[in-house]
Amino acid sequence: MPSFWEMWETLSTIGCDVDGGTTRLAFSEADVKGRQYILHCMEQVGLASFIDGIGNVVGRFGGPPYVVIGSHTDTVPQGGNYDGIIGVLAGIHIAATWPRSARHGLIVVDWSSEESSRFGISTIGSRASLGELPSDTWLAHDSTATTLQAAAHAAFGYPDVAIWSVPTADVKASVELHIEQGRELADAKYPVASVLGIAAPQRWSVALSGKPDHTGSAAMGNRQDALCGAAEVVLMVEQTSRQMEVSGLRSTVSRVVTHPGVSNIVPHQVDLLIDVRAQSESLLRGYETALDEKLIQLHRERGLTGSRQIISAEGPSELSRDVVELIRQTIHSLGLPYRSMTSWPSHDSLVLSRHLPAGMIFVRNVSGVSHSPKEFCTRDDVDMGLQVLNTALRPFH
Ligand SMILES: [Zn+2]
Repeated sequence: MPSFWEMWETLSTIGCDVDGGTTRLAFSEADVKGRQYILHCMEQVGLASFIDGIGNVVGRFGGPPYVVIGSHTDTVPQGGNYDGIIGVLAGIHIAATWPRSARHGLIVVDWSSEESSRFGISTIGSRASLGELPSDTWLAHDSTATTLQAAAHAAFGYPDVAIWSVPTADVKASVELHIEQGRELADAKYPVASVLGIAAPQRWSVALSGKPDHTGSAAMGNRQDALCGAAEVVLMVEQTSRQMEVSGLRSTVSRVVTHPGVSNIVPHQVDLLIDVRAQSESLLRGYETALDEKLIQLHRERGLTGSRQIISAEGPSELSRDVVELIRQTIHSLGLPYRSMTSWPSHDSLVLSRHLPAGMIFVRNVSGVSHSPKEFCTRDDVDMGLQVLNTALRPFH
């Protein structure tokens, strides 16, 4: 039976990128290989294990009621070796010593396709397992026009192999151990934290329309240049988000596409993609209003027509108060400094929290950088996270 760090070292060789970092893109050869290794480790500790049709690796001890420990092992291109990974290995590590006579069964899960890098949709495996995946999602395609359905079929056999369904009514608690993806804990010098809630990730598109014109003959004062309007939107998003950050909202214009994009035509159409993360619905509504007012102003001052559409929207989530309290008491009982925080990035626990009592423990990220080979936790900090998780789950033995 390999130790936590032996498993970590072996997994880090799968999808190891020659240019640095790890690439186990969802449903890729490296992802499948990584999941087969996780299955092997689960079997070694005696979990009854399988990989379902979408790639979720599930291992189980005993019967209901259950405690769930899970995260993900797929990565972004050239990602790090901690994001998601430590949470899955923590589950296997804890399973090794989970008493066979425990009052609660244990389920360990490596959720499939948590990262949105390939299909533009995050947490696909956990959504599918909880009946939240809209049917048209199967037609989403990657940059090579491969659909999600085709990728899942080739890698894990869907629909011939069924998708595991989470026995939500029987789950008493779910805990995900995860690296903090920012630098809050590193700056504050706390090794671990309990997560109170997860900010809602939303993607909006804004289309601005002006008038095509000759870049030579059109006077500067007589144009409807959609790109100049878009530049105002980009800066407005930055300024407004800076003001709202302290209350709990961050937003980014992550893509700008200009039409027709040729040198001698005034741009008449610009499409912007905006990523918004807010810790409450009221913040989202306030931000939405500010953006819509900006579009009205651009119409008034530049003659541009603007429209905003929601591409994907999730509500902010509060994690289970009972699980948060359990983690708080555990951190105190171990004599560690207690800190709680909100997660800006999304996680499988956001999906789980809509169906069952879910909590998360963050481990300090010394580099403060994630989705990068620079992502880094010290072994001491990860071991401390493992100890908090293990101790917090003892009442379920
Ligand atoms: Zn993650």
